[in-house]
Amino acid sequence: MSQALKMLPKGAEERFARIRNGRTTRNRRRLFGTNGIRGLANVKLTPEFAMKIGGAIGTFLEEGHMLVGYDGRISSPMLAKAVIAGLTSTGCTVYNVGMTPTPAIQYAVRYHKMDGAVMVTASHNPPEYNGIKVIADDGIELSRQREIEVEDIFSDDRIRKAKWNAVGEARQLPRILDVYRDGIKKHIDVTAIQKKRFHVIVDSGNAVGGLVAPYLLREIGCKVTTMNANIDGTFPGRTPEPRPESLGELSSIVSVADADLGVAYDGDADRSIFVDERGEVYWGDRTFGLIERSFLQDNPGEKIVTPVSSSILIKDVADEYGGDVVWTKVGSIIVAHTMKKVKAKLGGEENGGVFYAPHQPVRDGAMTTALILDIMAKTGKKLSKLLAELPRYHIKKDKITCPNELKKPILEELTQQIRGMSVDTTDGVKIGFPDKSSILIRPSGTEPIYRFYAEGKTRKRTTQLLTEYKAKADQLVDELTNN
Ligand code: MG
Repeated sequence: MSQALKMLPKGAEERFARIRNGRTTRNRRRLFGTNGIRGLANVKLTPEFAMKIGGAIGTFLEEGHMLVGYDGRISSPMLAKAVIAGLTSTGCTVYNVGMTPTPAIQYAVRYHKMDGAVMVTASHNPPEYNGIKVIADDGIELSRQREIEVEDIFSDDRIRKAKWNAVGEARQLPRILDVYRDGIKKHIDVTAIQKKRFHVIVDSGNAVGGLVAPYLLREIGCKVTTMNANIDGTFPGRTPEPRPESLGELSSIVSVADADLGVAYDGDADRSIFVDERGEVYWGDRTFGLIERSFLQDNPGEKIVTPVSSSILIKDVADEYGGDVVWTKVGSIIVAHTMKKVKAKLGGEENGGVFYAPHQPVRDGAMTTALILDIMAKTGKKLSKLLAELPRYHIKKDKITCPNELKKPILEELTQQIRGMSVDTTDGVKIGFPDKSSILIRPSGTEPIYRFYAEGKTRKRTTQLLTEYKAKADQLVDELTNN
């Protein structure tokens, strides 16, 4: 027995032994993760794979009319063509919309009354990855239950082949981005924004966000300065995941240029992270809290949907302005489907996803930007001032590496160790403390890691929580890997 194991609580050793003995059991094959299918381009996501998944989707949808679009990654046009081949082989009619942000194709599905869409994108993942998001006729990604049906068709090779004269047509559908921008403008006070002549720095991260935001913002009277605007699948400007630590350049440019706002999008522009006029970068749940406050002022009594990874700030705002928070598991698809189920008009995530259902109940980076500008124009306040009006919490996030097969045993062990504390097990474990601080420990749905979200009224308390629980989880990974 190792020295570290001796320090573990009573019963832990026996539980570890059970876990180690049972570790050889393999889970059934899952293609879809938290947010679609992801993998290394031309390794897991080969043209053959893309064509087969296109066939499985086409079989599931039974000769529907489908849109296919793709992001700016190097492998995306190749994979999109393979998906189109798979879909048309089952008899589906496919409209290729070309390069597009994910929210624009989601909007187009409903606008053009399609049966669904396939978006080839790995969103915020590194450049060597790619992925496939499957969208239903309501513009929302497939629910888990329907994903399983597609997975089963794929795994059992039950792909339908249309007769030679019933193979689907592949057509082009241009101008979906024009329709999408017009759709966003319906939900904001364009005249009020035009009067302010805001200067906005747009960092699209060499990704597809650059196809929409700069044009939309100019149309609503903003002065726009772009950075990382050329689409480049190697993402030379910054990582495709917009996080405070990866947006240093945007922050500097906003303050040097004396701009009113900075905004950065992820790889498929469904998420947006904002920078105030002083160059301070905010996590998404803080700017979501601002949108929530403005929304509840106009719509008191509405439900707000957000994952357990969001700040308690969302509940504070709801309590003050008469809203009702519905907490969910982490994952944009879960938030969107919960919103539909509970008839909520607003949802949001800490990573910069905001779901504004009057436009569409999915996260949408350009819509979120327009809502922030709308609030700034209507209140006449700078973003720093608006955000300072919200309750203040210190938030720290971190992660540790953890093999996928150990995720579940570690969660079980952690739950045992914190028995008796105030725990929310909606997703991973979230421990709440009487001083309103909390720590969420949850296994990632897409990567072999455990994520930590610590929150407290002081920086010291937040750091203390993060250090304590990260060490606890690290020790468990260590024990289960080495014994
Ligand atoms: Mg994304």
